Amino acid sequence: MLAWTVDDGSDSEVVRRYIEFARTSGTRLTFFLNGSYPAWSEHAALLQPLVTSGQIQLGNHTWSHASLTSLSDAGIASELQRNHDFIVDTFGVDPRPYYRPPFGYRDGRTDAAAASLGYTSPVMWYGSLADSGPRTEQQIIDLATEWFLPAHIVIGHLNFPAVTRVFPRLRQLIEDRGLITVTLDDIFAR
Ligand SMILES: [Zn+2]
Repeated sequence: MLAWTVDDGSDSEVVRRYIEFARTSGTRLTFFLNGSYPAWSEHAALLQPLVTSGQIQLGNHTWSHASLTSLSDAGIASELQRNHDFIVDTFGVDPRPYYRPPFGYRDGRTDAAAASLGYTSPVMWYGSLADSGPRTEQQIIDLATEWFLPAHIVIGHLNFPAVTRVFPRLRQLIEDRGLITVTLDDIFAR
């Protein structure tokens, strides 16, 4: 089982193509979204059926991709709560207890501040497509080849289009390795 997770959403067209990829391929994904990006409102109708069916799970990635370790406890609460409210209001699902700290920045204090809101599970990763910035298509294929393995949580991003041009290659890799894609809810009890 492979948990393919994707974050952010700064490029609206990449978000649309990821949703279409999920819809046409059946790939199960977890999106850690920042509600401050317009893509999430623009494509809410397209995404909603997949969220409702559970094929795409939504997790909290803060409203504006804030570094939690540089915020006060009140600032952490504000960033998580605003994004939480956006997800609940827009998609009708409660992301708790799952959140991903932007940049992976967290410590005991930020964990406690998040937990006070019910966000008790910071979700890190074990393998990355490294595409929070621009990558070539070949780099993404190489990283997927390295990291699409059983029992791995892999991180990708909804920010740059290269990944959308290699979806068939990534899907083939999953098939060739006999992997099943899963959301967090597929494997962990809430
Ligand atoms: Zn991020």
